[in-house]
Amino acid sequence: MRRISKQITYFEYDQNQFFCSDKVPSEIATNRRKGFESLQLKLATDSPDTIAFNESLASSISDVLFTSMYRVPFPFRQYLSKAMRFGSIVTETQGVKIKDIDDNWRFDLSGSYGVNVFGYDFYKDCMAKGFAKVEGLGPVLGPYHPLIRENVEILKDVSGLDEVSFHMSGTEAVMQAVRLARYHTGKSHLVRFCGAYHGWWDGVQPGIGNQRRVDDVYTLAEHSRASLKVLETRTDIACVLINPLQGLHPNSDSASDSTLISSNRTACFDRVAHSAWLQQVRDVCTRKNIVLIFDEVFTGFRLAYRGAQEYYAVQADIVTYGKTLGGGLPIGVVCGRASLMKRYKPKQPVHVSFARGTFNSHPYVLAAMNEFLKQVQQDKYQAIYQRSDSLWNSRVERLNQRLSEADVPVKFANLQSVLTTLYTRPCRYNWMFQFYLRAEGLELSWVGSGRLIMSLNYSDEDFALVIERIVRAGQKMQIDDWWWQSSTLSNKRIGQRFAKDMFIARFPMLSKLTLFKRNDAGSTVRGAAPWSK
Ligand code: PMP
Repeated sequence: MRRISKQITYFEYDQNQFFCSDKVPSEIATNRRKGFESLQLKLATDSPDTIAFNESLASSISDVLFTSMYRVPFPFRQYLSKAMRFGSIVTETQGVKIKDIDDNWRFDLSGSYGVNVFGYDFYKDCMAKGFAKVEGLGPVLGPYHPLIRENVEILKDVSGLDEVSFHMSGTEAVMQAVRLARYHTGKSHLVRFCGAYHGWWDGVQPGIGNQRRVDDVYTLAEHSRASLKVLETRTDIACVLINPLQGLHPNSDSASDSTLISSNRTACFDRVAHSAWLQQVRDVCTRKNIVLIFDEVFTGFRLAYRGAQEYYAVQADIVTYGKTLGGGLPIGVVCGRASLMKRYKPKQPVHVSFARGTFNSHPYVLAAMNEFLKQVQQDKYQAIYQRSDSLWNSRVERLNQRLSEADVPVKFANLQSVLTTLYTRPCRYNWMFQFYLRAEGLELSWVGSGRLIMSLNYSDEDFALVIERIVRAGQKMQIDDWWWQSSTLSNKRIGQRFAKDMFIARFPMLSKLTLFKRNDAGSTVRGAAPWSK
């Protein structure tokens, strides 16, 4: 994959091609342009200060430049990033809404990367009460504040495991879990499953995004007998890493609009089937002395009080937590069996597994966590967990029904409160939907419509308003003709077209061949292909 990534050739659609890369009739392209311009104007007039502030950061904060470049498929990004200006510079949250510096309140569908499970006000409270508990101590590191004991007891109970270690991020927690598995089993390889994200450490990213050649990771398919066979027969596997969120789209990357070149994004959650699969993995790991690690950085304290372990009814050997567990502050936690957590071997005093970190167990973080852990034990929050699954399934069902009634070619799949947008008719421009959603006052993360993370404090009334806004966004996008159809248009053809455009960008002379002058709908277009201009 790393080698292939270097072969993908950059090309871009200029201002004219941008609206008709699928070779639509000119009146459709004109209509799209009109729609684009009014969207552009709306976003610019809604948030002028936010946009100016955001642009002042773009050349200084590498994250800002990266995310703004990777919101849409790359051939469209050059024109889009100049023409469609917006930003997210925010100062306040209340309930399920977030306010930018132009005083616009938007519904938050971004969920702060999954941190926000119970609503921002809940975390403000955890942080304020937590800080009050430790303010006499200040940022003392090394010695522990006594409240650490209560956290550890609750975490042991929640995870069903014996020991706990504290870290600063989910990425670090995963690094530590994998390191311990290798240390105790004496085996070299970790197994991860296709598409699963486990943080940005290159040891769990053997493909695109990582420059280092990684030769101690096997990437296997989920729901696959062949994968079970690999686990059964290989003798070098130390651990299996599971990201339980993959149940929403097994074997696919978490969806981002930057790769949305057609409508072939798929997702379909089947709790029974996924539970059964994870149980099979559990069984083979037990038989073969492979450490089963549930990476619950995202799912922990979201899918259920005991996270994915409870939700899928499978007990892991090590569990990593992060995100929401910090009560609003940065965190990574590893819980594991005592035999796996030990960092030394009693009979081999120098054979240690060294892991420390300056800010581990920071008193302010542990105090906000303490509030989090104690509050979520209350009946009120336990009741939220209990009804979450059926509540979000029925909400998403209602949303899909409204979209279908409005004849908008969009539907949503969900794993409880985590949603992904699916597009039901072949189209190259689905990624435009994120901007229509934004114009309707819905705040998304930089992956756009690929992942909506809903906090559990959304009321029925809030969500009903969100539904209406999503439907309205879809209707506007429909009116602006981005979803133009022809009887022969297919996702396959769009994919082929994309590949051809890329090929021609690399070998421009080929654009003169008739073969390369077909539109997405399959008919031959007249004149030179736009990319050869
Ligand atoms: N594992 C999983 C399953 C995650 O979702 C994430 C974050 N998205 C991480 C690990 C990494 O956590 P962090 O961003 O806190 O390093």
